[in-house]
Amino acid sequence: MTTQFGTTQTGTTQAADLLSRIQPAEGGREIFDPATGELVGITPQAGPEDLHAAVVRAKSAQPAWAALSSQERSQALHAAADAVEAHAEELAQLLSREQGKPLNGPNARFEVGACAAWLRTTADFQLDPEVLVDDESGRSVLHWRPLGVVGAIGPWNWPMMISVWQIAPSLRMGNTVVIKPSGYTPLSVLALTEVLNTALPADVLIAVPGRGDVGDQLSRHPDVAKIMFTGSTETGKKIIKAAADTVKRMTMELGGNDAGIVLDDADPQAIAGDLFWGAFINTGQTCAAMKRLYVPESLYDEVCDALLEVARSTPMGVGLDEENLLGPLQNRAQWEVVDRLVTAAKESGARVLIGGDPDRQAPGFFYPATLVADIDPQNPLVVEEQFGPVLPIVKYTDLDQAVEWANSLNEALGSSVWSSDPDRAEEVASRLVAGTTWINKHGAVDPRIPFGGARESGFGVEFGVEGLKEVCQPHVISR
Ligand code: NDP
Repeated sequence: MTTQFGTTQTGTTQAADLLSRIQPAEGGREIFDPATGELVGITPQAGPEDLHAAVVRAKSAQPAWAALSSQERSQALHAAADAVEAHAEELAQLLSREQGKPLNGPNARFEVGACAAWLRTTADFQLDPEVLVDDESGRSVLHWRPLGVVGAIGPWNWPMMISVWQIAPSLRMGNTVVIKPSGYTPLSVLALTEVLNTALPADVLIAVPGRGDVGDQLSRHPDVAKIMFTGSTETGKKIIKAAADTVKRMTMELGGNDAGIVLDDADPQAIAGDLFWGAFINTGQTCAAMKRLYVPESLYDEVCDALLEVARSTPMGVGLDEENLLGPLQNRAQWEVVDRLVTAAKESGARVLIGGDPDRQAPGFFYPATLVADIDPQNPLVVEEQFGPVLPIVKYTDLDQAVEWANSLNEALGSSVWSSDPDRAEEVASRLVAGTTWINKHGAVDPRIPFGGARESGFGVEFGVEGLKEVCQPHVISR
């Protein structure tokens, strides 16, 4: 089959063996490749009784898992990382076909590599009891106990990596996990859990591939102690309400509309590549991608030209073609969000530097990399999350005004400041509201560094020792 972007690869991939292990004997739902429309595989579809049975099994497996020593659980996570590495290419190919992301660049192989890296780093963290007081008044020690069963609900943009972000700390601290993947990318998560489970005891990690109703049931289940959720703010609010009756602990990693601010001392040529990938990583489908860029009038044309150059030279197409670095949108609904916002921006008089003209007849949910200049700061493309390969570039003349625009939205996940003077950039960073502000980079998450959102981008943090605390009950013993 030929598309405007090249020739698609058909037939089986290295993932065929993994697929054969996760597909149901009968029934199920077909999953199609967002780049080609070809069938990728069949996902089993769980119902309410399956979810309940999974929670019962996870609950009964939890005490024995928690009773292992910290070192034994650490070794199990390293063994799970070994298993991921042994199956890395199969996992990457399946991920590429189901999610759409290319194998190369910061995409499928990168995501599978990150799964192993996060498992290993989390395995090596230690969260020991802390002596708070030890004097003539008494002795108080803070212990970190597992919560029990953690319910993990994930999105379709980084389905494997985000699952590991939820699974690894939960298991490390002696919890068991029931995970509900996105209905768009269940095969990736089922294949990942299949591989992880070759190294884990039975029932400490169970995947339940249902739709939103199964996620809702997980959020309400009385034997689930905590929900870790990554996805839209709208769904996050529903989960918070559903989980209220059982007073569940929650980590909410919700939508972002991250701002980048270029300062007037930046070097446009030097920053163009990192600016581009800060916005277009995973074809823009990343919670902490840069989704609006503020550039001073004095550098505006130079920054636009430098970004245009990178966009022109970055190939987009079918994920399994090795040369591609950008892929399709994962699903039709997301393609329509992007198309609506770009169309509205064009109609408002904004200037499209490149892209904005999808081939509506071609197969796949491809939307070309799009840069939009001379756009009003209140345009919907700036103030709504586009979650796709589009970057609006807003001109500013007053830095205070740019900071005010950056801080003006309900979302406050990440942000970035770009400058040749890191100290000056840090001063501007200190005025931004966000969970993380990066200097001269954007979206660079690290398993050692806590990550989370401010405002309606969520609460709680993932990663680092702080992330381990989020899947524990603090228990003080005082005498
Ligand atoms: P959703 O928030 O709708 O879905 C995320 C997960 O929640 C999926 O597993 C979904 O299942 C599940 N879910 C849906 N409804 C419920 C419910 N009532 N209770 C419990 N779980 C539920 O995100 P979408 O995938 O629809 O993406 C929509 C938007 O979210 C995007 O446009 C983007 O803006 C944002 N988003 C943000 C992400 C981030 O990383 N912060 C990641 C992905 C999306 P199912 O898929 O089966 O419906």
